[in-house]
Amino acid sequence: MNSGFWIGIALVAVFLARYIKRVRIRQEAKRMLQEPGLTPDNPLSGLRLSEIDEHILTISCGCGGGFRPTSEGSIRVDGRDLRVARLVCGRCESERALYFEPPPLLH
Ligand SMILES: [Zn+2]
Repeated sequence: MNSGFWIGIALVAVFLARYIKRVRIRQEAKRMLQEPGLTPDNPLSGLRLSEIDEHILTISCGCGGGFRPTSEGSIRVDGRDLRVARLVCGRCESERALYFEPPPLLH
């Protein structure tokens, strides 16, 4: 066998590994979008603020990193007031928003 053959095999292996990684990240991103809280039309509801903070810690990025909140605000979607927490991945710095219904006010 000449070295060109092995270099070819190595290149195929590298491209295959990259391809598999891309597919996994895409699948993970798709799966994540189906979880409540990641789109405004499917917000988290019924959680207290402390539970929302805990929930943020359980979310992981496609890269395997964890998210931390950077800011929080309110948005109005289809006549509903939602809170939105902006999150950033601690590893790859990709951003994500977490939508949730504000907890009922205690009187
Ligand atoms: Zn990440």
